Amino acid sequence: MIEEATCSADGFTGNPRQLVEHFDSAHPELVEIVSEGGRWFYEVRCPACGESHRQQIRRGAGADFAEEYREEIRAVGLDILLGHYLGEHVLGGEDGPA
Ligand SMILES: [Zn+2]
Ligand SMILES: [Zn+2]
Repeated sequence: MIEEATCSADGFTGNPRQLVEHFDSAHPELVEIVSEGGRWFYEVRCPACGESHRQQIRRGAGADFAEEYREEIRAVGLDILLGHYLGEHVLGGEDGPA
């Protein structure tokens, strides 16, 4: 279990739940809801390595859906970001798991 992780952008430290809340409030741009060619996606960007991941929200989902479920969509994106962040930059760090 990871008990503590640090935000690479500004040094905020907290448990994984607090880190997600931190990403959401301090770095809202890390999860963006974008449309392209009539499709809607959420795009997650890692603050540590800049890697981004884009996922279609739902087949046939339009602007109304993206707007109505904005918070839920962001929550899913933040979850994916956290998984990547902890896996690659906390567990994968030089010191390994605490
Ligand atoms: Zn931060
Ligand atoms: Zn990363």
